[in-house]
Amino acid sequence: MASLPWSTQLTKNLAERKEAGRYRQQRTRLGAQGVEVVIDGKKRLSFCSNDYLGLANHPDLKKAFIDAVEQEGVGAGAAHLLTGHSRYHQQLEEQLADFMGTQRALLFSSGYQANMGIIDGLMVRGDAIIQDKLNHASLLDGARLSDADLLRYPHVDMSRLHNRLHNAATADHKLIVTDGVFSMDGDIAPLAEIMAQAKQHRAAVLLDDAHGLGVLGKKGRGCVEHHAINQHEMPMVMGTFGKAFGTAGAFVAADEEVIETLIQQARTYVYTTAQPAAIAAATLASLKLVQDESWRREKLQALIAHFRAGAKALGLNLMDSLTAIQPILIGDDNLAISIGKKLEEKDILVGVIRPPTVPKGSARLRITLSADHTEQQLTQLLDALEFAYAH
Ligand SMILES: *Cc1c(COP(=O)(O)O)cnc(C)c1O
Repeated sequence: MASLPWSTQLTKNLAERKEAGRYRQQRTRLGAQGVEVVIDGKKRLSFCSNDYLGLANHPDLKKAFIDAVEQEGVGAGAAHLLTGHSRYHQQLEEQLADFMGTQRALLFSSGYQANMGIIDGLMVRGDAIIQDKLNHASLLDGARLSDADLLRYPHVDMSRLHNRLHNAATADHKLIVTDGVFSMDGDIAPLAEIMAQAKQHRAAVLLDDAHGLGVLGKKGRGCVEHHAINQHEMPMVMGTFGKAFGTAGAFVAADEEVIETLIQQARTYVYTTAQPAAIAAATLASLKLVQDESWRREKLQALIAHFRAGAKALGLNLMDSLTAIQPILIGDDNLAISIGKKLEEKDILVGVIRPPTVPKGSARLRITLSADHTEQQLTQLLDALEFAYAH
């Protein structure tokens, strides 16, 4: 059988995707990120950004960014190991290590690159990587890139994690990898139990706290603080700046020998241009706000409680989440799309998440809250949800 010309095949695949309600499209924003955004020319109330503390457009961050651009220019011009590593990068690494209470921290240009680089940079043939099935795509891709074996366990299933650790008993080194807060479900990993199992089986742990840092814990140190993990038993913590920190890029906080190994071996660190110094300068400003101004976290928690109470009263299928990620489970892809559209008729924007991002039959609205939302805006959201489900 003659195969179709490539372009015909691609067109056919795209049509099938559309048919299945899984077609993705870009939308263009005009103006700043915030709870009120202009998308495709229309003003919307947004419940789908990861700017959990409302820092992306904060004047302190903008000033730090602009001042640094005046001094350092825009492009970093080279990788960190050549001339791309500015004093702002250096200062940020030192302050992040202090913040997390680790010996060192290392910057990456994005969270995706960080996860690929950390896992591939540390794990070699003969090692075993053990991951929660709902981990972020970048963590799974890091394992695919590495020559180590990949074993997965059902979402937060600690007895199956135990089995996997047994299965990996002969591996040279074992690494358990977990999201701290799961990005599509909003639930928090049972980190204390994972750390205990890791200790018992002599495994290392990598925690991706993209959605926990800045949000969880009194001081915003994320899942390790939320679970009161002992300073001497810290996992390696990877965090991103594109979410609660309101900027861009990522880091990993770990012991000296881990960081030095990554500097030698993490390909996504070595072979990429450093982020602009101004991004690091802006992130220094947001780190200060995250540490000094806990009122944003407190306000966010109050909004989360308000939203959950309201959604429960409407009988919506809330998931078990204490975080800023508050998904509503729908199931059917096309039904999720149609509810999303009805919310837009009411000028409300939420994430409509379908497979393959989530398992088949678990399409959902991914609602995210920000400290910048008001109680009144939450009421608007709840009213729109009531309308969308009734029509
Ligand atoms: C967003 C995210 C990443 C990727 O970070 P970027 O800086 O956006 O590339 C990695 N892990 C998790 C859990 C995330 O939510």
